[in-house]
Amino acid sequence: MSSLAKNYNRRKISFRSGKGSFLYATNGKKYLDFVQGIAVNSLGHANPYLTKALNKQANKVWHVSNAFIIPEGEKLAKRLTEKTFADYVIFQNSGTECVEAAIKVVRRYFYSIGKPFKNRIITIRNSFHGRTLAAIFASGSKKMILGFGPRVDGFDHFEFGDLKSLKKLITKKTAGIMIEDCLGEGGCKLIPDWCLRYIRKICYEKKILLVIDSIQSGVGRSGKFFAFEYAKIKPDLAIIAKGLGSGFPIGAVLMNKKTASAMTAGSHGSTFGGNPIAMTIGNAVLDQIFKKGFLTNVEKSSKYFRAELNKIKENYPKTIKEIRGIGLLIGLQLFKDQTKFIQKLENNKLLTIRAAENVVRILPPLNVKKSEIDLAIKIIRKVCKEIKA
Ligand SMILES: *Cc1c(COP(=O)(O)O)cnc(C)c1O
Repeated sequence: MSSLAKNYNRRKISFRSGKGSFLYATNGKKYLDFVQGIAVNSLGHANPYLTKALNKQANKVWHVSNAFIIPEGEKLAKRLTEKTFADYVIFQNSGTECVEAAIKVVRRYFYSIGKPFKNRIITIRNSFHGRTLAAIFASGSKKMILGFGPRVDGFDHFEFGDLKSLKKLITKKTAGIMIEDCLGEGGCKLIPDWCLRYIRKICYEKKILLVIDSIQSGVGRSGKFFAFEYAKIKPDLAIIAKGLGSGFPIGAVLMNKKTASAMTAGSHGSTFGGNPIAMTIGNAVLDQIFKKGFLTNVEKSSKYFRAELNKIKENYPKTIKEIRGIGLLIGLQLFKDQTKFIQKLENNKLLTIRAAENVVRILPPLNVKKSEIDLAIKIIRKVCKEIKA
């Protein structure tokens, strides 16, 4: 009997080890892992370059307080600002912690310019920003907030795609808009470029801040460092986490100069956030992601994978409704509930994970090989055939 609380509905499978795109289970089977810790292990399991960096740092220093200068963090922040819209960075240990920090930055910014009444943030209903109290009320998902009242105030919601109602929600109390550029848990739903540009324009016009939660779509998963780069926009804040540590807990809030100015000494802090081990691994991940041709290759893999999936969709038009997402954040939307489909994929040794709206989420490591995509395609095709029969 497990002594772990029952807040997860776990699959009856555990793993001994992993290598690249594969996981070796305690049941003796070898699985093609296209979950990768839910878009976390961006460079696959037991990546030798990362292992080396981790071991090297482990022999130097694990942790020092943010009361001191941490050179590894200085370096990682510098690289993130050089490669993106951002001027300043705050490091945390997880995605939702960064969402919390971003909410604080937005409120604090308006406080710092003498407009503390501007403290409400507009979000997409049923988006996903993590599981802290503020994050669940930011999402507004009935399922996630159930039993966790009193409500954390300060969030107003609009329905995905309903830009008219978004505009109506903006009042003099509105401080910002926070959105995922591609809703991961929400069903791999991509916000179209024109729509992102429109939201950016509204934020400029109303002098409010745009926060983009890129926790799942960021760090190269889209084929660019940020998915919103395709729309050629710059938010005021962006949040990354999952892929940045390729399996090591880390998150970062990226901010432009204006926004970051509110975060004066003592305004925010974290014991673990930005510690030397996490920062070393973040740097090692960026060494790979920023290598010439790496992101182009992600785009290429995505294009190939999607073209193959589209062929399957054409063969099974009554099973597969839509291929969604961006880059290697791939959603296979089915007409029916996806539970059985995912189980059958697992029986055929391909691991995937659900998302909302009957979506089977496919999240290979960013350095996935063509042969591994081919193997996944073969299994997905087989399962479509089995489901139809
Ligand atoms: C995973 C995720 C989060 C939460 O991150 P945690 O590290 O689980 O706290 C928030 N927003 C998005 C878009 C995510 O995909």
